[in-house]
Amino acid sequence: MSENQNKNPKELEIFAMATDPIYIGTGGYTIGRVDNTIVRDPITNIPKIPGSSVAGTWRYYVALELQSHFKDDYKKDLAKRARKNIEELFDNTQNWMKEFDGNRFARIKCAGQDEASKISLEESQNINTGHCGHCIVCKAFGFSKNNKSSQGMLFFSDLNILFFPVFTRLGVKWITSPKLLNKEIAISKNTILTKNGNEQYLNLGWLNLEVSGSHQLEEKDLGDSGLNLDDIVVVPDSLISQIINSNLEVRTSVSIDPITGAAKEGALFTSEAIPRGTIFCGKIRGFKREGDESLPKLSLVWSALEDSKKYFNSLGIGGMTTRGFGRLKILSKLGDKNGKS
Ligand SMILES: [Zn+2]
Repeated sequence: MSENQNKNPKELEIFAMATDPIYIGTGGYTIGRVDNTIVRDPITNIPKIPGSSVAGTWRYYVALELQSHFKDDYKKDLAKRARKNIEELFDNTQNWMKEFDGNRFARIKCAGQDEASKISLEESQNINTGHCGHCIVCKAFGFSKNNKSSQGMLFFSDLNILFFPVFTRLGVKWITSPKLLNKEIAISKNTILTKNGNEQYLNLGWLNLEVSGSHQLEEKDLGDSGLNLDDIVVVPDSLISQIINSNLEVRTSVSIDPITGAAKEGALFTSEAIPRGTIFCGKIRGFKREGDESLPKLSLVWSALEDSKKYFNSLGIGGMTTRGFGRLKILSKLGDKNGKS
């Protein structure tokens, strides 16, 4: 890849699948009988994973991956790191770690809130707390120090639901709509489209709807979802929000009193979540400012994302990850392992 290409903005479409129910709370807002509601798009009323959650979580995972590959001698000792060649600091051959000199300043605190934003960028090199302002995490996701700040090289869109699983008499099907697919599909009011179009009637949860024809989607419309055309049911835009919202996972839990460790009396609460099997789609845009040599090559940033996406599948995203919520599999390939793509 030429250096010139690295400086251009690049936009990647990413597909992800919920492997647990996903709960991204709005913080105590109550709708109907649900106590813990999830974030929704204000216009469509369809639940989503906000881009800010994706960015914040991924920042943490890149910092975690980078930190886990410092050789033992250099894990905590910033002074020792300063005297070595960057290639000697890491225990593997990942180019995104070894090819960017700023990584010598990285620490786990480069994730999360900056606890030392009042100091200067220069001072931050020698203090083992807050964002370092130099490493690939700080450069890719942004940082702010008292004398310099940078908005970062990556922009994360929301992860929107593209295919949503519902139970039918023919097994689980994934529903979508023309608007979700961003595609013109003719569909009669209150009817649905399947691949074959000959089932006559099909229930989506408790709703029984007439099948009025074939959706005629192609493989490319499914992206990296891993689904088959047989799995897909297209419903009208006027119904999609209602069907999704009435098929969310709703769980009742008991609050635990932190002092006695027992269930609090009368502290039953319900939470809604996006169900396991839901397919999301979103975009990540990467941009390197022309001529700014303090930034890593974009190809290294993409491979850092690729290398750390595995943590979404073990540690998850959003709330209640200790109660079996939040695991997400990033299905799309973001970059080359060696930073060559
Ligand atoms: Zn940093």
